[in-house]
Amino acid sequence: MHVVVLGAGLAGLATAYELSRAGMAVTLIEKEDYAGGMATSWKKGPYWLDHGPHRFHSRDKQLIEHLYEVLDNEVVTRERMSRIYMQGKFFHYPLKAQNVLANMPKGLLFKAGWDYLTIRVRQWFKKIPDDNFENWVLKRFGRTLYEIFFGTYTSKAWKMPCTEISADWASQRISQANLWDTVKKTLMPPRDGEVRSLVSEFWYPAHGGIGQIGRKYAEKIERMGGVVHLEAPLERIELEGNLAKRVIYRKNGREHVLECDEIVNTIPLSRALEAFQPGISPDVHAAIANLRYSAIVFVYVEVDKPSVSPDHWVYLPEKHLTIHRISEFKNFSDDAAPGDKTVVCCEITCRVGDEHWNLDLEQGAKIAIRDLETLGLVEPGTARGLDLAKLRYAYPVYDLTYKENLEVLKRAAKRVSNFQTTGRQGLYRYNNMDHSIAMGRRIAKTILKGADARADEVAAGQEYFG
Ligand SMILES: Cc1cc2nc3c(=O)[nH]c(=O)nc-3n(C[C@H](O)[C@H](O)[C@H](O)COP(=O)(O)OP(=O)(O)OC[C@H]3O[C@@H](n4cnc5c(N)ncnc54)[C@H](O)[C@@H]3O)c2cc1C
Repeated sequence: MHVVVLGAGLAGLATAYELSRAGMAVTLIEKEDYAGGMATSWKKGPYWLDHGPHRFHSRDKQLIEHLYEVLDNEVVTRERMSRIYMQGKFFHYPLKAQNVLANMPKGLLFKAGWDYLTIRVRQWFKKIPDDNFENWVLKRFGRTLYEIFFGTYTSKAWKMPCTEISADWASQRISQANLWDTVKKTLMPPRDGEVRSLVSEFWYPAHGGIGQIGRKYAEKIERMGGVVHLEAPLERIELEGNLAKRVIYRKNGREHVLECDEIVNTIPLSRALEAFQPGISPDVHAAIANLRYSAIVFVYVEVDKPSVSPDHWVYLPEKHLTIHRISEFKNFSDDAAPGDKTVVCCEITCRVGDEHWNLDLEQGAKIAIRDLETLGLVEPGTARGLDLAKLRYAYPVYDLTYKENLEVLKRAAKRVSNFQTTGRQGLYRYNNMDHSIAMGRRIAKTILKGADARADEVAAGQEYFG
């Protein structure tokens, strides 16, 4: 039996790793010249750079053991440190009572509390439906908090009004149940293990940035007899009836054919379906056209001082700043930068083709350094652009119709009985690294045991993803 895995992100790598470990013939094809997908890292001068902050966190002991195994125990643990910049000040995130009381204008605190009470009372008479992101947040946090943080940050990061974003996103990405829950947790932090969401400890490779996970996976897969083809984009998937028979990819300017018994897809599902021969029907093409992605431009700024902030990352909801989040890799691993300098990664969300997507390093650095100076984190003349990276499929856009469109794609995929689709891109699901790895391992189990290991259930619920 020969399994072809499409895409060498963490989902594809985890699948191929478990299959090769069990002695199955596996070939993995990847369009880029590296393994790791979005969770990659690269060396620029003395620095290791990631695509923004990538912290591995999970409550699944077995998955954490698996991470140690893949990384040959070369792992560091860190206490998460992250803040939000609002109203000219930095607030700890998750919120800390003393910090909020000391820094937030008292009038605003009172207004937030009053808004919350008003909306709770109004709800006794008329329920607000959970029909979009704005309503989900309003009914749980009131208008003031919606406006100063949730709404402002989300519409800035997603580049669309919150009324057009599905409530699914709120339930997966907002940790507290409501304002009262936040206040309770702020005043009486839950003991270890009780925290719903804001798992404070995380794991990170000791060397080589987050991309070390992908590199180690690829190395081990090949050592176990699996084949990893890099710079090998998918061209076609040839179907006969309801079976996929061959995968055709391009490498070194020519086509190569792989006979296959099973395909595991982890590239964007739309791109895989478009590769089907015979081709997909017009309704599937129409659904594909309606599923959108948010892209990110990452601007890496080198700064002439040992540290810019103690944070792993800082959220920047306010609209006068173009960047929406910064991160400092040195705080993830000592290996990321030399002692006397540091790098700040500044993220700008955009749509492919818009003015931000088209930024080059010089233009991106100008914006990023201006914002860092506004924040008071760097002094004029001490920072410069180091590198720039772009991710086209960074975030699936959960708009109000994404579920129906996605169902059309999933149905088209299901018609091919030896084609399985998983991972963040394969499922169009806003999940984390641990989820993609867990999905890949479950798919492998399904293939090996011939019984459904329910990969589709990973990260499918309304639980908080962190
Ligand atoms: C800015 C940012 C920050 C994040 N922070 C965190 C975090 O702190 N913690 C966390 O757990 N997760 C985080 N994530 C999410 C995490 O990166 C993903 O969940 C995970 O990397 C997804 O892995 P995947 O294999 O499912 O998908 P991907 O990594 O997208 O892998 C898909 C692979 O398919 C390849 N491919 C695409 N098209 C083709 C083709 N035509 N032919 C061949 N190959 C192709 C791609 O090159 C890629 O390698 C973050 C994501 C982003 C964007």
